[in-house]
Amino acid sequence: MPTSTQQKVSPSTVNGQVVVKDLSHKAHETKPPAHHVNFNRITDEQFQAAADHMKLEPDIQMLLRTPYRELIVQIPVRMDDGHLELFHGYRVQHNAVRGPYKGGLRFHPEVDLNEVRGLAALMTWKTALVDIPFGGAKGGVTCDPTRMSRRELQTLTRGLTQKIDMCLGVYRDIAAPDVNTNAQVMAWIMDEYGKKHGYTPAIVTGKPVNLGGSLGREAATGRGTMIITREACRAFGIDLKKSTFAIQGFGNVGSWTARLLHELGAKIVAVSDVHGGIHDPRGLDIPRVCEHLKSTGSVRGFPGAKDVSNAELLTLKVDVLIPAALGGAIDHQNAEAIEARLIIEAANSPVTPKADTTLRRRGIAVVPDILVNAGGVTVSYFEWVQNLQQIRWDEPHVNAELEKRMLAAWQQVHRISTEQKLPLRVAAYVVALERVAEATRQRV
Ligand code: NAD
Repeated sequence: MPTSTQQKVSPSTVNGQVVVKDLSHKAHETKPPAHHVNFNRITDEQFQAAADHMKLEPDIQMLLRTPYRELIVQIPVRMDDGHLELFHGYRVQHNAVRGPYKGGLRFHPEVDLNEVRGLAALMTWKTALVDIPFGGAKGGVTCDPTRMSRRELQTLTRGLTQKIDMCLGVYRDIAAPDVNTNAQVMAWIMDEYGKKHGYTPAIVTGKPVNLGGSLGREAATGRGTMIITREACRAFGIDLKKSTFAIQGFGNVGSWTARLLHELGAKIVAVSDVHGGIHDPRGLDIPRVCEHLKSTGSVRGFPGAKDVSNAELLTLKVDVLIPAALGGAIDHQNAEAIEARLIIEAANSPVTPKADTTLRRRGIAVVPDILVNAGGVTVSYFEWVQNLQQIRWDEPHVNAELEKRMLAAWQQVHRISTEQKLPLRVAAYVVALERVAEATRQRV
């Protein structure tokens, strides 16, 4: 473990800035109890609901639900205090019938094969839903980056790249950031991969713009979430400018979503991070909350707002609730207490299947993750395209193309949901599964 004199870092990003932040003053703060979420079971149940509705052939179902390849690697890292720590890394390639495997890398203490497997499948459905020519993959390392120095984190990242090198490739498998990984981590991967294969910026997306990253990528998931929130509010008769919003999680996705909704005139009354939340019924000044986070490391203690717990934030009486932190935030224990009219799943799998059933019975609509947060992978696709063509799009062009893709996906999901009287999640899976199933039928 790091010593008290060592720099401890978190690779979080805060609105546009790639920061590796000194968290040494926070190392001993208590965090909410870890709750383990079975991502694989969640994704599997969601898959099954749509497959049953579509009466998908059993052999196609078998192919679609089975990952193509699962890799577990050991990564020894000499830590700053001299001891050797052994980390476990994962890469699951779920499906590539529509294009190369594509998916993020997560650094978190709860990462395991089951989680990565579920998240990899989610990527297959997400890329199909927004109709980009990628399949689905996910990776990660079981580690706590908030307790690692910058050097330890870099060694770990380079070690992971060497160990999974044999299954990466510009037309095979392209990595990206996810929880606790950012543009800096992607730069290290690109650099390590390049030592063996030569200059290959398209091997990762979400890179620093200076190294071939796309303008607009940093905000893309939040921008996509804003677009879907805007459209869903319109469809459900919620006037964005007269409604209240609560957002759990104020990292890349949560903070950009908050900022862009705030710009549209939405009243965001509560936001939170891992340390807890803040609530102001008059509406929070989001740019100032971003400044406060940058200077203190948390949204807590924001002047004029009341501190609330993450649990309290989720059950606030608001019009729209946006979980943008980790999976499983809304489960069978708190689903009855949710007061929002609409839930926008910005995080991956924040609503468990049991909670989904409860919310449906209570008339609370849920807009699913594979639609809401697909903006990130969509602009990752634009980044890959720009790298392959060795050109750079300007930011308005990136944002306009993103808007087009997100809008098309929303309209299709909403139409199928209305016509076939399906929850939005099942409708989204129907669109995605049909695309992957059709490509599979054409190949086998
Ligand atoms: P991030 O690490 O930048 O931010 C995570 C945020 O959640 C931070 O504010 C953190 O303090 C907070 N948090 C962590 N644990 C928490 C807890 N137990 N309770 C409350 N808050 C907690 O991560 P991110 O990139 O913003 O990703 C958030 C979610 O969105 C994840 O589910 C991720 O898989 C998903 N997602 C991200 C992207 C992307 O482009 N970054 C794309 C698609 C999906």
